[in-house]
Amino acid sequence: MMTSDEIKQMLDALPLPVFAKAADHSWIYGNQAFTDLIGLDDFIGRDDTSLFDEEQIDIFWREDNRVFGGQPSTSFEEIGEGTFALTRKFPITLEDGKPGLIGLIIEAVASPDDLRKTRSDYKTAQEQNNLLISQLQGEADGHAKHYEKRLRDLERERETAQSLAQTDPLTKVGNRLGFQADLQTLSKRYDEVSGSFTLAYIDFDNFKHINDTFGHRMGDRLLCQVAERLISIDTIFSVSRLGGDEFAVLLECAEQSTQQVEEQLQNMAEFAFRPITEFKREVKASGSLGFTRYPFDTKNLSELKHYADLALMKAKNAGKGRVRKFETSDHSDDLRMRQLEAGLRTAIKQHDISAVYQPICDADEKKIQGVEVLARWTHPELGSIAPDEFIFIAGRLGLLVHMDQIVLRRACNELAEFLENGSIEYFSVNASPSDVASLGYAKNFLSTLGEFKIDPSAVLIEIIETAVMEKSQTARDNLAELSAAGIKIALDDFGSGYANYRTLLDLPVNVLKVDRSLINTINDKPHLIDFLVSILHMAQALGASTVCEGIETEEEKILARTLGFDALQGFLISRPISVNDLREAIQPQAATQASIGRRRA
Ligand code: C2E
Ligand code: MG
Ligand code: MG
Repeated sequence: MMTSDEIKQMLDALPLPVFAKAADHSWIYGNQAFTDLIGLDDFIGRDDTSLFDEEQIDIFWREDNRVFGGQPSTSFEEIGEGTFALTRKFPITLEDGKPGLIGLIIEAVASPDDLRKTRSDYKTAQEQNNLLISQLQGEADGHAKHYEKRLRDLERERETAQSLAQTDPLTKVGNRLGFQADLQTLSKRYDEVSGSFTLAYIDFDNFKHINDTFGHRMGDRLLCQVAERLISIDTIFSVSRLGGDEFAVLLECAEQSTQQVEEQLQNMAEFAFRPITEFKREVKASGSLGFTRYPFDTKNLSELKHYADLALMKAKNAGKGRVRKFETSDHSDDLRMRQLEAGLRTAIKQHDISAVYQPICDADEKKIQGVEVLARWTHPELGSIAPDEFIFIAGRLGLLVHMDQIVLRRACNELAEFLENGSIEYFSVNASPSDVASLGYAKNFLSTLGEFKIDPSAVLIEIIETAVMEKSQTARDNLAELSAAGIKIALDDFGSGYANYRTLLDLPVNVLKVDRSLINTINDKPHLIDFLVSILHMAQALGASTVCEGIETEEEKILARTLGFDALQGFLISRPISVNDLREAIQPQAATQASIGRRRA
């Protein structure tokens, strides 16, 4: 906004004379150009009577009165001897609420000839203007209908384009853009009435498994079905698919408590994930759900989305089919997670991952046969981090293959001497499903062993069942290549998953490592003994040797030995130890007759 002083300054700078009059025709303002024109310094408060004769004043004031009545005017009048002016006057309302006017002398000329010229110029200009206006008017009238239709078409096209841009082509619910628009609309609406709403993110559990098992067409049908069911629920304001198997739901629930909202979402998820029958097959799926409430958790929409994400992540971590509300503590967990991610990235980049070795001995406990290599990582501020946690994070960051490569090199470097002097026969490294499924895994692995001159037959790779259940051809090729090179393959944590026996038969499995949960719970579930016996029979049929994991007590050791396990591993035998402790723990043993364990000559 300009102040009145600034307006005055601006008007003073104008070359055109400008003046203002009150309703009694007295001048209340005149700029510098006006002062110069009339040749009077003290005109404020005076009127035309100071300058003009009655006849002239009469013309001026009649004009003024029309303007005070609200009509702008243009006039050509003699304003002094031999001086003629083209003046434009506009009505204004003064501070006291009374009418006033502003006059603008567009042209002041010295002679009637000039005036005639000005008049005729003005007339010509006006005629041209009128002509132009009537032409435009005519054209506009002529084209009005056309333009109206075109405008309507454009509007419709714009709406269609907008709704297409905001729709997920597969499920026909909103996409990310649509979701964003709905979120804005709802937050605006609830700001106006100071209400609240809920944002929920829903994600399928194991969608990849569904796609792999039943095919992508079935996966697509499932997504559509879930979307259809969700939009059929009355209380839902909008449903959007954010990509892949993730949906966002906006729920109007101003009156409800958080617990009621949670129950409602629980019912909603159960309804959405009812089994579907498609292509004559019944498919059961489940979904995890994380939710947050506006404005109780936050009024910031980016934060709101982030909170729903955190709650969803927690729900997923807690197991399948969970519904979970955002908690303030999720925030600090999230900060910790970011800290861990950043730390782990750096550690992997700098090869700052260490290894410990857990001895595995023969059933009679006479000799340490080999060691399992276990990764360890210490965060500079947060201290030692559990392998399950950092391995999960490395997997999410896509760095697990790289990390396992570092661990392998470390093991090769630190254990070469033990293999050389025969104090151990082999070492065993863990491979994640993503390792096994990555192109070139076998080649890299073998070339690392070659670099350290380690005989592949002195190395075991532990994989879990899912590594091969994912039906990846690359995984199978890698395992076949490693196996052909003499490396032994162990199935880790056996008995804790859902082994597909057909898969087992197809695999080059040399060792079954039986999960510690079996031996650890045998007192509560005696029938597990029969189960263990059948596993041992199966191993025999496969020609695989067996390791009992997680031996913690004497009883467990005796039981495992009696049942006929080939080897034992667990805290009772030894905890995982550093390379120096390993050196102390084992007396150098003479090279055995065993075929494994020697370094190449
Ligand atoms: P895993 O391969 O089954 O390794 C055995 C885990 O059981 C180790 O946990 C070990 O410390 C623990 N353990 C051994 N004996 C006992 C016992 O008597 N009682 C109990 N309660 N636990 C015992 P850790 O070191 O925490 O490793 C956990 C898992 O992390 C490993 O399970 C393995 O799946 C994974 N892992 C460890 N290192 C690596 C690695 O370098 N690469 C990959 N991909 N995974 C690794
Ligand atoms: Mg293992
Ligand atoms: Mg294990």
